Amino acid sequence: MEKLGVYLSVPFCRSKCTFCNFASGVFPAAWHGRYVARIEEDLLGLRAQAARWNARVPNTVDSIYLGGGTPSLLAPALLRRLFTHLRREFAVVPTAEITVECAPGTLDAAILETWMECGVTRVSFGVQSFVDAEARATGRLHTRAVALEDICRVREAGIRSASVDLIAGLPGQTLDSWFESLGVLADSGVDHASIYMLEVDEDSRLGRELLAKGKRYHAQNVPSDDLVAEMYGEAIGFLAGHGMAQYEISNFARSGCASQHNLKYWRRQPYLGLGVDAHSMLRTPAGAALRFATTDDLESYLEASGWNTPRRLSGDEELEEGWFLGLRLNEGVSLAALRAEFSDSAVRGCLEILSELADEGMVRFMGGDCVALTPHGRLLSNEVFARFLGEPALA
Ligand code: SF4
Repeated sequence: MEKLGVYLSVPFCRSKCTFCNFASGVFPAAWHGRYVARIEEDLLGLRAQAARWNARVPNTVDSIYLGGGTPSLLAPALLRRLFTHLRREFAVVPTAEITVECAPGTLDAAILETWMECGVTRVSFGVQSFVDAEARATGRLHTRAVALEDICRVREAGIRSASVDLIAGLPGQTLDSWFESLGVLADSGVDHASIYMLEVDEDSRLGRELLAKGKRYHAQNVPSDDLVAEMYGEAIGFLAGHGMAQYEISNFARSGCASQHNLKYWRRQPYLGLGVDAHSMLRTPAGAALRFATTDDLESYLEASGWNTPRRLSGDEELEEGWFLGLRLNEGVSLAALRAEFSDSAVRGCLEILSELADEGMVRFMGGDCVALTPHGRLLSNEVFARFLGEPALA
């Protein structure tokens, strides 16, 4: 039976981190209740909307992910309301993975108790750096001690899984300080880590400053691209040596602890996004993928703008996604599975690109008819993915 993943976006933060390019910010607490009410409206109207789009909405949910933003800022009563509505609308299986993102320092006893009541099984901590000066320079409000204390409290409360996000490329970071953060992460006992390289784009204050070659937000102290690439490469080896194997470009886990929710994105399984800037993928009864999203503007969302009209993917677009989403995973892409889903000739049409990429050391053919990125390909993944789209590489 097909099962659904539900992503719920909570765009509220205590402060805006300089590197952040998400649709999140500091908004009045009075908006929290309105926001939850809007999500409830979308949930109530979901099945009628899906019927108009000829989209199948699986009734059974096996993963829920509260991301953002800082979902740990939502008051217990609002969280309970959200989970009550979700459980009213869907059959959430008892083994469901239920993840909440948490900014260290926002966790109080009442929130932790509410998470337990709501069935949370996993907490993802946005630490970014365990070196206090680095975290402070980006506007993070926590220290290493606070982050470690929160990880302990979650474990003591009986939540079985925890993840830590780190960013390579923060202002002031050095290879030594990077290893310091990795070491603290490994010793903290979490079973999952996400390692990102700093994104330099117009959507964050630090990114804009770097593009303008300015000095605000400590932009002049951002490590070079080569050093950031080295940090990423070192993290892969370091975490493997501490029992956390890489399973996706940015994700690492102890055995059996990969994020089941995020795997749905890369395996093209259905998921529903609720709230602002939330993306969804559902299928028609015939199996075609429908992609749709909500606005990334909170005020427009609160004014009752719902999901945009879905885009129905063509067979070629689905095959492209099969490549560039599947290749993110270390397990790689099974040519046999793609042949079964699309056609022998459609997959044959991609073999030339694959063989060029293999010659350039970006992908490798593994046993059992699988192809995967090499470590070099992971570092230049945007370039690889652009080849499947027939487009120039993104920056
Ligand atoms: S990084 Fe996380 S906590 Fe910081 S502004 Fe972005 S969403 Fe909020």
